[in-house]
Amino acid sequence: MVDFNDPVWTELDSAGNDAVKWLRYLVEGEGDFRENMEILAEDLSHQLSYYSATAYVLPHLAALCGRLEPEDKIFLIAHMGAAIAAEAECPLSPDTEPYREFQEGLAGLGRETKQLLTGQDLAGFLQEDPELGQMFALAALSILGDRGHAYGLWLLSAYGWEMGHAACACGWDQEEYVFAEEDCLEPVSIGPWDGKSLEEEAVWLQGLLALAGDTEMTPVLPLVYGTGTCPACGRQEPYWNWLKRFMEEY
Ligand SMILES: [Zn+2]
Repeated sequence: MVDFNDPVWTELDSAGNDAVKWLRYLVEGEGDFRENMEILAEDLSHQLSYYSATAYVLPHLAALCGRLEPEDKIFLIAHMGAAIAAEAECPLSPDTEPYREFQEGLAGLGRETKQLLTGQDLAGFLQEDPELGQMFALAALSILGDRGHAYGLWLLSAYGWEMGHAACACGWDQEEYVFAEEDCLEPVSIGPWDGKSLEEEAVWLQGLLALAGDTEMTPVLPLVYGTGTCPACGRQEPYWNWLKRFMEEY
């Protein structure tokens, strides 16, 4: 964790370039926690971009998270999901200070997220605010699962999870891939979640979304975790590959 007085803070960027100001307010308990948290999260996830301040903010937020009541822990984690997922788009190089800070923050937030997932009252907290519940599920995926998948789902949220993108290595691609209208994806069958195990990502993500009462993202999960067959060349691969390839090419 890098001290607020370290000169590195003046070199870090965020959308508003004042992430450290809002982080200090949060850590020092100044002003309204939720308002400050919303501003900081927006500052670090604007346009789903990765900002260099994110890595340095995370260890401070992880330490703060440990001192909060469960409702505020969920609020903090839910709001940081997009900023964390964005790292998948420009991965930090190992053996660098930003990488170590990011990993330290991720480990701390991972412990907090796991505790919440296995706690007794999670469903109640998530159902109080379904939109926040959905954000928390995506944030848990960013922290404990595949950040690239989380980033993809954040991206598809702009289309209400009804449409995505697809590209095969042969050159076939579709910018507007409407899930309900296409038939080149074989859905995967996602079993019920036992409320504890984090082994099968699609299973626990779907289970978390069920706890939150989600009806928007859940229907598309069997398809985005499913297997595509390219209509041009017949090659089969996970839909995630199609989405990743499209995002890299365009
Ligand atoms: Zn193909």
